[in-house]
Amino acid sequence: MGRSDRILVAENSALLRRMLGDVLAKQGWTVLEAGDGMAALQAARDESPSVLLMAREMAGLGGMAVLDELRKDPRTADMPVVFVTGHTDARELAEGLERGAHDYVRKPVDPVELVARIRTALRLRALHDELARRNAELEQLARTDVLTGLANRRHADDVLRSTIASARRHARTLCAVLIDVDRFKSVNDLHGHAAGDAVLREVAARLQDGLRDEDVAARWGGEEFLLLLPDSPDATVVCERLRSAIAARPINVHGCLEIPVTASFGWAPWSGEETGEMLVARADLALYAAKDGGRDRVMAARPAPVRDEQRGAA
Ligand code: GH3
Ligand code: MG
Ligand code: MG
Repeated sequence: MGRSDRILVAENSALLRRMLGDVLAKQGWTVLEAGDGMAALQAARDESPSVLLMAREMAGLGGMAVLDELRKDPRTADMPVVFVTGHTDARELAEGLERGAHDYVRKPVDPVELVARIRTALRLRALHDELARRNAELEQLARTDVLTGLANRRHADDVLRSTIASARRHARTLCAVLIDVDRFKSVNDLHGHAAGDAVLREVAARLQDGLRDEDVAARWGGEEFLLLLPDSPDATVVCERLRSAIAARPINVHGCLEIPVTASFGWAPWSGEETGEMLVARADLALYAAKDGGRDRVMAARPAPVRDEQRGAA
């Protein structure tokens, strides 16, 4: 809750609007005004005020109807709404609360009560925002590999599934790349696990730096990385560029050690048929071939096996 909180006041009568607005402005809140339900809806969407103080009874689009519209729209679903009403019928008041109003102020409006109710609504709003912020943070953490900041294995699995679904839907190409740091065990053995960690971080950074925004880099396992390259029929050029970005200069660790590192790459183009698991398995075979061929190299996968029904149709 701060000085910058903005309260939208929606009410037909300019006089009452002014009176409510003056009380709120004295608290340091910024007051926005709407003269009817349609204007209230528009301003709620465009200005996203912290709280909407709204007459329940208005000509045209009434307060209840505005409330229903706000709750339907994810942008305004959590906006606290405080009704101003001349009605005192408990059943009517209860209905408004049930449909998502936060609170009521009854006419004639008492300024002290009004401020107290708006303050509570603002507190609710602040709690909502904080909760949303923390949820987003947790979600981000759950998707991220702590050491490298890349997507973790679990998130990579999700992305693999959704990327393949999207490539299938739009008949697009896609490549998967598996990367394994060469002789990494000896980095640990020679320089210690902390230095090994620093090397992994730098390898991850060099991979990430060499990719487009739409590409995804993930830590697939200990010293293995997975890349997903949408809209790419061939990954040779990208892989060669990344391979040389890793091999070109030694990795500086703790400002004193210079550790030369290489990595092997295996990539596979999506067949248009196979599952993510099959695609990665083919990239893995290519990676194995790269290791077998002497490491610090890029190998392409062999074509996916053709399914029986395709063979039959051909
Ligand atoms: P190759 O070229 O055949 O891939 O040899 P390699 O030594 O890289 O392969 P190997 O699978 O024998 O060793 C991988 C090593 O990676 C073993 C493991 O201790 C280390 N490792 C896995 N995760 C981490 C990590 O998070 N931090 C550090 N420092 N080391 C890790
Ligand atoms: Mg490995
Ligand atoms: Mg390795």
